[in-house]
Amino acid sequence: SSLNHIGIETHLIKRINMREQLIKLVEIIPIEFIVRNIATGSLTKRLGIEEGTILEKPLLEFCYKNDSLGDPLIAREHIYAFNYCDSTTLDFITNQCFRVNDFLQGMFKGIGIKLVDFKLEFGRTKREEIGASVEKILIADEISPDTCRLWDVVSEKKLDKDRFRKDLGNIIQAYQEVARRLGIMHEETNICRQRESQSFDSFLLLPQQSQ
Ligand code: UDP
Repeated sequence: SSLNHIGIETHLIKRINMREQLIKLVEIIPIEFIVRNIATGSLTKRLGIEEGTILEKPLLEFCYKNDSLGDPLIAREHIYAFNYCDSTTLDFITNQCFRVNDFLQGMFKGIGIKLVDFKLEFGRTKREEIGASVEKILIADEISPDTCRLWDVVSEKKLDKDRFRKDLGNIIQAYQEVARRLGIMHEETNICRQRESQSFDSFLLLPQQSQ
């Protein structure tokens, strides 16, 4: 995968076909890691930051993964207090988040798209090595227009799930546009069978289908 090429490990082992992929079994860390480059969505609502404000530095936020609580924003201290992960792991993940941001920002810039924000999830995988259990932290879940905000550089047109969330229509065309610009356009027939709200699993995780 593209991320593997820059030394970032993900759960993907291989793509089996358009719908299925073989992945490593991980225990998901119950935190959504949100990286923001431009203020929009919940950040503007929560803090009254003006929509579209370019952030001086990328901002990393932590949300506790719990649908019934509405995935609340939490502080680093909550992560330690409730033992969601330790400080070494959190430092590693923080670094990975910013590296992925740099990589994706550059990739999208090259195809005329602004990476506004996105969400990552990480998982733990355990492996036995000479009698000892070694833990690894991998990116899991997906990176796709369902989990990123993507705006066209010129028109600022939304090319992501906000088209569904805000009822803007043409979501399939927007996703196709991103895929076309990335050079990973799916077959027309498969696209047509997709339900509008269905996620394109690992649409960007990972565009190239190498192991
Ligand atoms: N996001 C996601 N899953 C979630 C929550 C957020 O993929 O459960 C992504 C979302 O697509 C956006 C970023 O995280 O790219 C920041 O979302 P925000 O907190 O602004 O969400 P909102 O509450 O505005 O939907």
